[in-house]
Amino acid sequence: MTAPHAAPSLPPVARRVFANRTLNLRAIEAVGFDMDYTLIHYRTDAWERRAFEHARERIAKLGWPTESLEFTPQAFTQGLVVDRKLGNVVKANRFGFVVRAMHGTRVLEFEEQRAMYSRVLVDLAEPRWQFMNTLFSLSEACLFAGLADLVDAGKLPTGTSYEDAYAVVRSSLDAAHVEGALKAEIVKEPDRFVELDEELPLALRDLRQAGKKLLVITNSEWEYTRDIMSYTFDRFVPGGWRSLFDLVIVGARKPEFFMGSAPIFEIVDESGLLRPSVGPLREGGVYLGGNARLVEKKLECPGERILYVGDHIFSDVNVTKNLLRWRTALIVRALEDEVHALESFKQKQRDLDALMAEKELLEHASGQLRLRLLRDDGGYGDGVPPAELRRGLSQLRGQLEELDARIAPLAREGVEIVNRSWGPMMRAGNDKSHLARQIERHADVYTSRVANFLYATPFAYLRSPRGSLPHDVV
Ligand SMILES: [Mg+2]
Repeated sequence: MTAPHAAPSLPPVARRVFANRTLNLRAIEAVGFDMDYTLIHYRTDAWERRAFEHARERIAKLGWPTESLEFTPQAFTQGLVVDRKLGNVVKANRFGFVVRAMHGTRVLEFEEQRAMYSRVLVDLAEPRWQFMNTLFSLSEACLFAGLADLVDAGKLPTGTSYEDAYAVVRSSLDAAHVEGALKAEIVKEPDRFVELDEELPLALRDLRQAGKKLLVITNSEWEYTRDIMSYTFDRFVPGGWRSLFDLVIVGARKPEFFMGSAPIFEIVDESGLLRPSVGPLREGGVYLGGNARLVEKKLECPGERILYVGDHIFSDVNVTKNLLRWRTALIVRALEDEVHALESFKQKQRDLDALMAEKELLEHASGQLRLRLLRDDGGYGDGVPPAELRRGLSQLRGQLEELDARIAPLAREGVEIVNRSWGPMMRAGNDKSHLARQIERHADVYTSRVANFLYATPFAYLRSPRGSLPHDVV
């Protein structure tokens, strides 16, 4: 056991809770959780492969050729953007400039990419763009990329556009998610699909013991929620999973749940029998549908004392933050791999930064010499013979070339870490990625998994760092 006064140390970086806006957990009275990919982490490869297969079968029923469609989840990452119009998947920086693009299953050369996107900005409010919000988007990207190749090869019915292909992907996946077959498979063999985390139940018990009300608000239906929550928690929690939560809401239809005024029904028995709910919500109850106002009324606390934790940037954190002013936490599991990759690249990043600083100096010196030559041409030079200035300039050019040769491989390696095609999820070159910008705007805090609140403790004061600005003096 750790001595009460052991030297303090912070959790490993990959398991910290990062703050965009300062959040005092002590001031939070209730914590609501999304379920899929928030409380329950799925083995993405297994789950998404099944979703992909189910959707592919549906596409085949349309008479479309599907043999060439391949499930390659490593080819894509969360936070990329589907361009329905051109049959591409792109990565954008925080301003919406496309920094990398894939057409069908082929990464575009820089020149092709520039020709397509030099005058185009990614604006997620336009229907052209579909943001890959969660890990559920991986099967979608694989299917769309495969079909875009088939559009190009003329193997789909005449007149099929990339947009049509996307619509088919979307409807096939939606149907696969809604129909019972996929979920039945998951529930039948949960060990294949669900990654257990024994620290998670303890994190939830701690939050509850610290006086916070805990809620589940999920779009999944009751039977699935019951089975999968029970599988995940009951082995660790003596009273079963229900004993951890003050309120469970299934079939919530987020994001409408946070915006609308849908009626709520109580689920009165384990089989899912419903009755209309009148009056205040019952402690420990399970409900279907409803809306966030009912939850606020039940909790009797203002929005800023409710924290909602989810993995979907739009449905879980954007709307809750903007409309209700609830505090928000985003779960981004891929952050763990990202942090590990950054840690292993740390020394090289330092080397790269040092080389770039050296390059900046040489470029500045070179600019000054050129200016002196220019002034000399204009007849108001400083009297140093131009030949001497040119000699200096050519020397600098040589040094810069040598420096560039050292920078290039490091820079290339830097943009290929985490994912060879797309690089780090949260960065676009030196800038923030579009995903990072979305997270910054809508999530007060973000972390790789709910269990990280165990390390943070229910008493944490999660401070946002002093943001960096180009003119910072360091
Ligand atoms: Mg989710």
